[in-house]
Amino acid sequence: MEPKDHKKRIQILRRVILLAVAAAIMIPVMLCIIIATRYDRAMDALDRSREELTWYKNHYDARETWEAALTAAATQAVEQSRAQETGGMGNTAGGDAPEAEPQETGEEEAVPEWDGIRRVYLTFDDGPSSSTDDILSILRDYGVRATFFVIGKPDKRYEEIYNRIVTDGHTLAMHSYSHKYSVLYESMESFQTDLHKLQNFLYDTTGIWCKLYRFPGGSSNNASGTDMGELMAYLDRENITWFDWNVDGGDASGSMSAYQITERVLNGIQDYHNSVVLLHDAANKQTTVEALPTIIEALQAMDDTELLPITEDTEPIHHVVTR
Ligand SMILES: [Zn+2]
Repeated sequence: MEPKDHKKRIQILRRVILLAVAAAIMIPVMLCIIIATRYDRAMDALDRSREELTWYKNHYDARETWEAALTAAATQAVEQSRAQETGGMGNTAGGDAPEAEPQETGEEEAVPEWDGIRRVYLTFDDGPSSSTDDILSILRDYGVRATFFVIGKPDKRYEEIYNRIVTDGHTLAMHSYSHKYSVLYESMESFQTDLHKLQNFLYDTTGIWCKLYRFPGGSSNNASGTDMGELMAYLDRENITWFDWNVDGGDASGSMSAYQITERVLNGIQDYHNSVVLLHDAANKQTTVEALPTIIEALQAMDDTELLPITEDTEPIHHVVTR
């Protein structure tokens, strides 16, 4: 019995020693692994924070730069406008006018004498969108009324936006229901169907019977498979006034910076007594929203300049139709 007992005790002791040795090795190893993992995580978090900080810093620096550039552009435009006013402003010719060289066709009737007030009509095409609320808030903050050439978006979330355009005092105008050139301009019938669909949709949504229209792509577009002259004549028969633009913010391209849009608008309006300014209301046109406060501040700082919504009495701006 005794040697057996002894043997057993030795066995137990050996196990205890082995366990102790294993623990002595394993515990520090485990600790090392835990500490190393935590350290890694901490370093990752630190790296991320550092990246974030750098991003914020760059973003802030960039913002300061373009804000300064925008303010400089606005100041320059105001100065130019003052200089031009003192030197008289006769040049309604194209100047730096962008792209299609839009001109007022104006029937041959005598041009009424200019009353010395420069009128600027800001217009926003293609809405409503996720940007509309921001645009509307900026306009409200500056006490400016504008014109929205909207399309048909039966989505419930836009119902409120169509109505906010109206209740904020802006002009709700039409820009086709579908905005699909291939459908809209396919034939006179498809144009009529689209027009009435939008007119009825806007009436049902807001109670406004719209009588102002802007052709997608403008009246001088090259996409129409139907004679634009016939479509214009149809609008006339329907008592709908249509508008192109003579100042192009250039934001249709999607790559314009806020600074470029501001410069184009402020330079463009120098050429006209009545400027209809083309801008866009779309989710991906964030730079338009960024540019808007500076554009408005510059225009409001100019003497004898009014920012107005288009009405049926506004003198229409029509591109020269070449086809
Ligand atoms: Zn459009």
